[in-house]
Amino acid sequence: MLKIYNTLTKRKEPFQSITPNEVTIYVCGLTVYNDCHIGNARSIFVVFDMVIRYLKEKGYKVKYVRNITDIDDKIIKKAEEGGVDYAVIAEKYAASMHEVETALEVIKPDFEPKATENMDNIIAMIEDLVAKDYAYIATNGDVYFDVHKFGDYGKLAEQDLDSFRAGARVDVNGAKQDPLDFVLWKMVKPGEPSWSSPWGEGRPGWHIECSAMSTCYLGKNFDIHGGGADLKFPHHQNEIAQSEAANGINPVNYWMHVGYVEVDKQKMSKSLGNFFTLKDVLEKYDPEVIKFFMLSSHYRSPLNYSELSLQQAKAALTRLYITKRDVSSTGGKLVESYYKRFCDAMDGDFNTPEAIAILFELANKAHQKQNIEKAANYSATLDKLAAILGFLQRDPAQFLQTELSDEFKLEVENLIKERNQARADKDWSKADKIRDQLTAMNIVLEDGGNGTAWRYLH
Ligand SMILES: [Zn+2]
Repeated sequence: MLKIYNTLTKRKEPFQSITPNEVTIYVCGLTVYNDCHIGNARSIFVVFDMVIRYLKEKGYKVKYVRNITDIDDKIIKKAEEGGVDYAVIAEKYAASMHEVETALEVIKPDFEPKATENMDNIIAMIEDLVAKDYAYIATNGDVYFDVHKFGDYGKLAEQDLDSFRAGARVDVNGAKQDPLDFVLWKMVKPGEPSWSSPWGEGRPGWHIECSAMSTCYLGKNFDIHGGGADLKFPHHQNEIAQSEAANGINPVNYWMHVGYVEVDKQKMSKSLGNFFTLKDVLEKYDPEVIKFFMLSSHYRSPLNYSELSLQQAKAALTRLYITKRDVSSTGGKLVESYYKRFCDAMDGDFNTPEAIAILFELANKAHQKQNIEKAANYSATLDKLAAILGFLQRDPAQFLQTELSDEFKLEVENLIKERNQARADKDWSKADKIRDQLTAMNIVLEDGGNGTAWRYLH
């Protein structure tokens, strides 16, 4: 049975969906003011792609919602700097995000609500919170959530609330009754975009959009809520407070948080400036290599980003592709014992490092000298299990060639042209010499009706 580590209870719990065979999942998406970096790619795309693939493998129908925060201080600041409307920035970076999401070949959400397109839902929830006395209108006109009214406030935090309170006091604006009270509706400032509300022109705070949109798309109580570990507090704590106060029910059954991507033991983040964009990394590496690198560590652990670890991921995935190329899976049957071990690993809070280790065992078995039928079974099982994680999805010849540099490929192509010319000229000794040269470069030629194909031997 699948067990998921629930951040709220701090233990692994057997997974039971609210509706049999169906899973509802909400993931906090991107604030669109910059290109996605590798840390975003892990927490927004890769981990939940793996989770959803596995849930589908277990027979669940999945309803997946991931929001886009398209109005926020950072977006407004960037728009001011560039002298453009906030929507220009939001649209530009939402498009950039979709581009890399497509390139990464991950499962896309079924619904992708934007804050600015859900103002009615957001305003209705704030009105509800004010009516139920969980929120107050401050002297400056902003609407705040009153954390004292919510008995369980702080249960998702891993630090003592007073330490947060001390930190929050530094930039306290005087309007809040407690430094931890958080804004639901902000009054408009000159030059800012705004929407009409019962409290005047303004815009929503960040936290309320997720509560309003998850309630709207998934209901008052849904199965899984995911996001990066940095969202635990205050963002997710505030979501719980708002949703539970408004709807009268615990909103989320399982909270899943993804560990940081680090560079030299420091969290990768836009504010620290130590980030690598997904776009840049995708220019150098196959998307499967990037996903393999990320899933080689458990999703809750920190992940160290380095060129070397990507190279290692590429080398490891290459080994699996070589098996796919060299050991035919035609007619192969699933080896149940391996399937079971794979599922046992994944059932243990999505233990992908262990699941990946099983793929290598299968590759080794497939290569051992034995009868073709057995080898085909191992190869077919490898195919099936790798696919659950989104690996080995392309033609091995294509994958194995993408690792070669463009210069190398051009050199090979030129030598083949020269050899074909020599053959046309009936200069057999020159043709043979070129073939030897290609063999020394680990190139195997296959002359066929449609010209000469080649592949690289590892
Ligand atoms: Zn959120």
